[in-house]
Amino acid sequence: MLQELLENVGKNISETAETLGKRTERVVEIQKLKNQIRTANREIAQNYEELGEMLYRKYQTGETMDPQITAICEDITELKAEIASYKDEISKYRGESVCPECGAAVPDEAAFCMKCGTRMPVREADFDEEDAVPDEVAGDGEDMVSEADFVEEPEVTVTADAKEAAETEKTTEEA
Ligand SMILES: [Zn+2]
Repeated sequence: MLQELLENVGKNISETAETLGKRTERVVEIQKLKNQIRTANREIAQNYEELGEMLYRKYQTGETMDPQITAICEDITELKAEIASYKDEISKYRGESVCPECGAAVPDEAAFCMKCGTRMPVREADFDEEDAVPDEVAGDGEDMVSEADFVEEPEVTVTADAKEAAETEKTTEEA
């Protein structure tokens, strides 16, 4: 009786082990297939993006497009302009200008673009505006603006270090 019982328990344990092994195998296979679906979906999304960019470039060249496509392209153009104006605002807060030639951020004090060497247009009105800002505002840590936004280099000379720093900052921003 006890012998029988113990045998049954042993049998059940080995059966359970087998079922568990099979279940694990199934889970692994399902996971693999799901990963393949994800990879394929990512490729589709990339293709859609390329397709869209192609159409947008065609739209930009003035090609006649389907009105629905034109509407979406107009949206994109508007959003791009919006982004440009936000970037411009950020630059103003940081005391930077945007290079008219290459689009790089250039400190207001710099006479030339650090990236491409283009002479920067003078913005006297902005200098006055900045001088009017009391020092305490910039120095106050309780401000909503982070301290990093006010990191100032006292004198801007075009050095390899400065260039590298500007590039590092840009990369961080994009990340
Ligand atoms: Zn430039």
